[in-house]
Amino acid sequence: MNPVIAVVGAGFSGSMAALHLLSALPRSWSVLLCEKADSFGRGLAYGTDAPAHLLNLRAANMSAYPDRPEHFSTWLGGLPEDERAGVAATPAGTFAPRALYGRYLGELLTQAVVAEGAPRLHLVHDAVTDLVPVAGGYSLRTEGGASYAVAGAVLAMGNLTGFGAPPSRHRLDPWRPEDFGRLHPDRPILVVGTGLTMVDAVASLRGRGFSGRIVALSRRGLVPNVHAPTTAWPVPDLTAADLGSLTRLTRRIRAEIAAAARAGHDWRDVIDALRPIIGYLWRSLPRPERARFLRHLRPFWDVHRHRTAPPAAAAIAAEIAAGTLDVRAGRILAIADGPGEAAVTIRTRGGTADETLAVQGIIDATGIGRIDETGDPLLRRLTSRGLARPDPFGLGLAAGDDYRLRAGRSERLWTLGPLLRCTLWECVAVPDIRSQAAEVATLVAAEVGHLGRRLRLPA
Ligand SMILES: Cc1cc2nc3c(=O)[nH]c(=O)nc-3n(C[C@H](O)[C@H](O)[C@H](O)COP(=O)(O)OP(=O)(O)OC[C@H]3O[C@@H](n4cnc5c(N)ncnc54)[C@H](O)[C@@H]3O)c2cc1C
Repeated sequence: MNPVIAVVGAGFSGSMAALHLLSALPRSWSVLLCEKADSFGRGLAYGTDAPAHLLNLRAANMSAYPDRPEHFSTWLGGLPEDERAGVAATPAGTFAPRALYGRYLGELLTQAVVAEGAPRLHLVHDAVTDLVPVAGGYSLRTEGGASYAVAGAVLAMGNLTGFGAPPSRHRLDPWRPEDFGRLHPDRPILVVGTGLTMVDAVASLRGRGFSGRIVALSRRGLVPNVHAPTTAWPVPDLTAADLGSLTRLTRRIRAEIAAAARAGHDWRDVIDALRPIIGYLWRSLPRPERARFLRHLRPFWDVHRHRTAPPAAAAIAAEIAAGTLDVRAGRILAIADGPGEAAVTIRTRGGTADETLAVQGIIDATGIGRIDETGDPLLRRLTSRGLARPDPFGLGLAAGDDYRLRAGRSERLWTLGPLLRCTLWECVAVPDIRSQAAEVATLVAAEVGHLGRRLRLPA
């Protein structure tokens, strides 16, 4: 049997890693791409069918390949007119529906499967539940009971979701909008979280005929900013002292934004100028400063860095103006479940009086979960066996900037995408992941490629 590298998860990260592995590995090697969901290439972000769920980045920034920046725009432009109906051309750029992007990624995988005469890319539609070390590699086990001998694996399992919080039998999963269709059309809904997932949830609710009041609650009550036309601003010249303290770094960036404003530039120009060095800034900050960032600054950073497409932002602004969406800063104190609704007691930020909301459903739109709370069997087994360990902040897995897991033993296990947040920070958006997928494939091939003939893996 040919030697095999497994990729676990076929969202954007895993799909791109698999495609780059096909090029980087010797032709005698195969790639096993395993996905538990129904479709390959789409992942959490691009699995939606809702036309109102637009990409959060301009089409011009969404090429799957770092060296072919026009690839997605060209694909989009080649679609028949009627299939491009949902594409929004705005003064801030062109924003395509995420469903179209999922189709684009699916086509890239299909082309790769078809292009290989003797297939080297094998798609396995099953959840990976374990990677058991064996001589020469691992025995990859799936929920469906299959096992495969692999020389190494890239874990591309994406955003951690599904933690069952907040605890209520009326809890709704934002990633299962089909359940929204069962709601009473106008009894209030609470959305916990006010970020991009909330924006999606509101669009999904309205798209399914819900006309009632929506309350959205988060610690700070911050809603993502909107994209606007930008112009280039130079990368700020930061000193070592700026990088030693979060307070100093924040002050420095604020000063840069003020300087940009005096020169007629928008704050977005400065945030975009920082993009190429954000990973460096993150790694340069001492660990306690990074912890402070996560505790205090992250919500502010996220709403400036991860912006919405103008049509999505306009829909949210119209809801807020009409009073149909009530965005609050505060926290949940208690939830009392009744048969048809939940009584949720909240305390508004800075307030002392509590308020109880009667809602028919609570949508958990808090976004990213913590790795130590994950129910994923593969991650739990790898960590309990010492093959993987959580990173110091619990955001994902401990790994080096060579993408290899750091777990006290030298394993042929790599990761990329959101699980690498602690190492790279900027590893959740396409422009970052596309380069990282190419890099990890090169590193994996450099490590295992020469082993080909010597590997004797059990079938
Ligand atoms: C709603 C949303 C919208 C976004 N929009 C944009 C955007 O417009 N532009 C942008 O640049 N970025 C966007 N992002 C960021 C997004 O994280 C990245 O673009 C990218 O899609 C991440 O891909 P991923 O493959 O790492 O993770 P995911 O998309 O989460 O994919 C991981 C895959 O792994 C599978 N999986 C997990 N565990 C297992 C297992 N044990 N066995 C088998 N399969 C498994 C999952 O089913 C899933 O399909 C968005 C993110 C979200 C959540």
